[in-house]
Amino acid sequence: MAIKTSILDTIGNTPVIRINNIAPEGVELFVKLEAANPGGSVKDRLALAVIEAAERDGSLKPGQTVIEATSGNTGIGLAIVCAQKGYPLVVTMAESFSVERRKLMRFLGAKVVLTPASEKGTGMVRKACELAKAHGWFLARQFENPANPEIHAETTAREIIADFGPDGLDYFVSGFGTGGTIGGVSRTLRAESPSTRIVAAEPDNSPLLASGHVQAFAADGSAADSHPGFRPHVMQGWSPDFISKIANEALSDGRIDQFAAVRGEDAMRCARDLARKEGMFVGITAGATFAAALEVARTAPKGARILAMLPDTGERYLSTPLFADIPEEMTDDEMELSRSTPDSRFDIAASPPAPAAAAPKADPEALAEVRETVAANPVVLYALEWCEFCWSVRRMFQAAGIEYLSVDLDSAAYRDGDRGGRIRAALREITGAPTIPQVFVGGAHLGGATETFDAYNSGVLAEMLEQRSIQMAAAAENAYGYLPNWLHPR
Ligand code: PMP
Repeated sequence: MAIKTSILDTIGNTPVIRINNIAPEGVELFVKLEAANPGGSVKDRLALAVIEAAERDGSLKPGQTVIEATSGNTGIGLAIVCAQKGYPLVVTMAESFSVERRKLMRFLGAKVVLTPASEKGTGMVRKACELAKAHGWFLARQFENPANPEIHAETTAREIIADFGPDGLDYFVSGFGTGGTIGGVSRTLRAESPSTRIVAAEPDNSPLLASGHVQAFAADGSAADSHPGFRPHVMQGWSPDFISKIANEALSDGRIDQFAAVRGEDAMRCARDLARKEGMFVGITAGATFAAALEVARTAPKGARILAMLPDTGERYLSTPLFADIPEEMTDDEMELSRSTPDSRFDIAASPPAPAAAAPKADPEALAEVRETVAANPVVLYALEWCEFCWSVRRMFQAAGIEYLSVDLDSAAYRDGDRGGRIRAALREITGAPTIPQVFVGGAHLGGATETFDAYNSGVLAEMLEQRSIQMAAAAENAYGYLPNWLHPR
């Protein structure tokens, strides 16, 4: 059946794709694209598995709040599953993970409780346990929960075997966060594709599995302390500051055949190469896994087939070092392109606009309506619903705690009989200004967005409000900061 019962049916069955343009000679390189999951990462699999296992064994009750510590992707996956199944979700996350992740989770309806970066992964896990205990919530425990490796043993690994055939794959390359991916996949591959070598990739400055240091565990299976080999690294989602129970099992069972240490620069270069040369938009750990696969390829026998797991999409890294070199403004090259033809340029004024049609005459009814409105309300903003200047003034009013009436002249409510147009004509006659927005304070015309920002910056607006016994809250020092960049006066 082609029609899915719910979004949850779109989790898993991700494509394995051949690398064509950046594969070294002599080997066959493939990637498994987990960005194809609805939440854009491999962690959707675990989210669904953990919730459904808990539903089956009764540890999660209908409507009960779910909580988990996550570097983001598990939280996004859980948010999708919880949204569909109707569970409230709270996530704890170290403040150092990208802000996109927080916003994505909140957009999906989750609450995000940040923990200090200095407390690293162990801090966010501790906080999740504490909150779960205090409030009686269901803790997903991705670092210990057997449902995590299990789903990879049952789905990810079987998808790989279905694509390559038993013993059809020579190397499986993956990093680890919880170790769910590498733990579960290695279990099934060992049993059903025993010739496949399992390669664990780690940040070169923070090798935990390869260090040989034995992780201590508490009675509940959680890591007892921070691993001494841990150093902050750029691969968000890989190698927390401890080896999880799940990762440790794969290690002590001898299911890791070799380690690969990856430099941060190589991870980011590979992510960029995958985007620019293969058209695959993936994150930093994907780039890192690919870098490890290239390293494996250097010593692999001729004709070897190598598969790299690509855990997530690149979209959640816009604020991270991955995008540090990606400019917002036009580069010199782009400027040169702009200048290579005459139209729509920034460096020469646009051809003069066609003369405006004569302004329509204001009718007495609309004039009366404006005069009544501005007299009856302390602060009135005549606006267009989605105009950027209007939004900027609204944001400033909101930040300063100024209550105002917004008359949105192009909104559906003002369309009948061109009420919006007639009021606009009246405004023009009253203020002499043809532009929108126009702001009135205590019945007096203050001006448009620029005059309003200037009055805010100079303190005039505060005085005008104070005369009407309206207090202004402390907000941004420069009101022009509320404008989007492209509207800043040049
Ligand atoms: N990459 C990213 C971006 C992740 O979020 C995670 C999970 N935290 C991983 C890799 C590692 O996956 P796993 O937890 O299954 O080891």
